[in-house]
Amino acid sequence: MLKKSIYFSCLLIFYTFAKLFQAMSIRSNYNIAFKGLSIGKHVFDYEIDRKFFAEFDGGVVEDGNVNVCVTLDKQSSLMVFWFDLKGTVNVQCDRCLEMYDQPIKSKERIFVRLGEKEFTDGDDLIWVSTNDYQLNVSQLIYEFICLAIPIKKVHPDDENGNSTCDPEMIEKLNNYIVREDNESNPVWNDLMKFLDNE
Ligand SMILES: [Zn+2]
Repeated sequence: MLKKSIYFSCLLIFYTFAKLFQAMSIRSNYNIAFKGLSIGKHVFDYEIDRKFFAEFDGGVVEDGNVNVCVTLDKQSSLMVFWFDLKGTVNVQCDRCLEMYDQPIKSKERIFVRLGEKEFTDGDDLIWVSTNDYQLNVSQLIYEFICLAIPIKKVHPDDENGNSTCDPEMIEKLNNYIVREDNESNPVWNDLMKFLDNE
């Protein structure tokens, strides 16, 4: 019995480390080693897919295909990172609740300064220690992808301007909403009685 529990503990530890190592190796693909780079522009291309999204909790996006082109403009005391994002992310439609590929496109910019923090970070300024030699851009890319998703997520219209939502789901949802409205809600009735007595 004891042997069995030791065996399972070892397996669990191994599994945890394997997952951790996998996570580290995926994120480490997004390290930009700026220290050795010359002054000027440098371009890095990334193809983002399901494996990338699996690294991030939150569940906003779990799948997609996004091309991210990062241009680093290295200057003597400042670095400017441009992020050009283009592709699709698989998200849930607000109208029919089915998944669909939402096209996204955006351009973002981040300033990176080396040294001790001299003034407060803005939304677009990061301070890194002079001992650092690289910047991991995976978190930034994830946040920029999330920001590029429109607030209202619905299936795009076809070329004739008709909705491409799942008609069966729309019908089911409409029936459900109508039924909900027709059914009397006891809480609501009590509230109405209370207001009548006021
Ligand atoms: Zn839809």
